[in-house]
Amino acid sequence: MPANILLVEDEPAIQELIAVNLTRAGHHVVRVADAESAQKMVREALPDLILLDWMLAGVTGVELARRLRADERTRSIPIIMLTARGEEQDKVTGLDAGADDYITKPFSPRELVARIKAVLRRRSPQTTEDPVALGGLRLDPATHRVQADGLALNLGPTEFRLLHFLMTHPERVHSRTQLLDQVWGDHVFVEERTVDVHIRRLRAALEPSGHERLVQTVRGSGYRFSVQLDEPGMQ
Ligand code: CA
Repeated sequence: MPANILLVEDEPAIQELIAVNLTRAGHHVVRVADAESAQKMVREALPDLILLDWMLAGVTGVELARRLRADERTRSIPIIMLTARGEEQDKVTGLDAGADDYITKPFSPRELVARIKAVLRRRSPQTTEDPVALGGLRLDPATHRVQADGLALNLGPTEFRLLHFLMTHPERVHSRTQLLDQVWGDHVFVEERTVDVHIRRLRAALEPSGHERLVQTVRGSGYRFSVQLDEPGMQ
């Protein structure tokens, strides 16, 4: 599944090289050249991953990573730091600032794509093509199919993405804002009510096999995908 990648790199040639290769690998790339522009982009929509150059004019990549980690909304965005410096201390500093991985320039496009894949698999399983099976449901991102106890279910594209996110982040409560950020990629221009509409459609699609009970409403908080028995008063 393509990931939305925010590339923060101030050297035009490197920015171009990375963007071309990531696009070729099937990802959507948004490019900016400084930390302020990156923060502006992130305020509008959460990327699936940030490729962050260490040495930026103005606010550095390390400082931006710290800021993103300090903010609850952006805390869990996977970050890969790009740097021209290969010293061990730099690596430690980058990882301390909250980076998930660290790549030293020059690197091969193939290595970069592989590292991105590894970080996404670990941190954002909803962006990978790995099938997910839970509570009798099986969702296959590669074929866009959902089966319930072997029975094929019919889901719209938004319901599919919503279920994919919920199944890869089970037993946790997600607020409507978080779901808009993670599933729609937009918490600013899409209304929270939209989430309720698609949750309703998702439940209707899961109803033939009785799996709608896995999509639970947590009053006053949001929604949760749970294979555990409903707690009283939670519905
Ligand atoms: Ca730079």
